[in-house]
Amino acid sequence: LVEARELVLSFGQTPALRGANLAVAAGEIVAIMGPSGSGKSTLLHCLAGILTPDAGEVRFDGQRVDTMRETGRSALRRDRFGFVFQFGQLVPELTALENVALPLLLSGARRAAALTEARSWFARLGLDGLDGRRSGELSGGQAQRVALARALVTRPDVLFADEPTGSLDSLTGEQVMDLLVTAAREQHTTVVLVTHEPRVAACADREVMVRDGKVTSLSVGRIAS
Ligand code: ATP
Ligand code: MG
Repeated sequence: LVEARELVLSFGQTPALRGANLAVAAGEIVAIMGPSGSGKSTLLHCLAGILTPDAGEVRFDGQRVDTMRETGRSALRRDRFGFVFQFGQLVPELTALENVALPLLLSGARRAAALTEARSWFARLGLDGLDGRRSGELSGGQAQRVALARALVTRPDVLFADEPTGSLDSLTGEQVMDLLVTAAREQHTTVVLVTHEPRVAACADREVMVRDGKVTSLSVGRIAS
């Protein structure tokens, strides 16, 4: 469903991707691991059409994403993808509930329906009672769950999540990962997530490793260990 072929991308003199390949099948949950600075976030941003690679191809459902015009890409991001960013991205002026309802409103849903749907995600993600808080009034873990709810509320075909459990303790991290996996399976969402935590990655169908801007499979290492 989502495919990267020989992606190359540099930020000025800094190479971030050096020929990265990854193919993710529909319905699959893939965890990307790898050292800090190895190119994981960059790869995820390219797959989601947020960054354009210098070379290589990105495809979604057979369509080229990297060469698509920005209007087409933003439609993809709005209608087909959900994205959880590594660093805070909630709209500070809106309440937590409004943040989750926002993608539905942008897709033309009525306000009441959007808020009702958003509220159902609050219950599922253990965020009850936090509806009216602004992002500055949430803990890191709460903000992360709100961001996850916002990415899932549109029932995207693909969820891209960059360290969605990054600022959670390992127990809450696993709980959030469980919720993510359950929600993804229920609504047939394909998931590509980045994580540093082996226990979170172990919940995925498949783990891959990014090193020096390239993707390598983890399976050999796992058998050896
Ligand atoms: P982490 O685990 O720390 O999040 P990562 O694997 O996600 O790391 P990337 O963020 O993809 O790593 O970064 C890959 C390389 O590109 C690093 O050398 C980083 O310093 C560089 N880089 C990333 N984003 C930018 C940017 N906007 N401008 C300049 N260099 C960047
Ligand atoms: Mg990163």
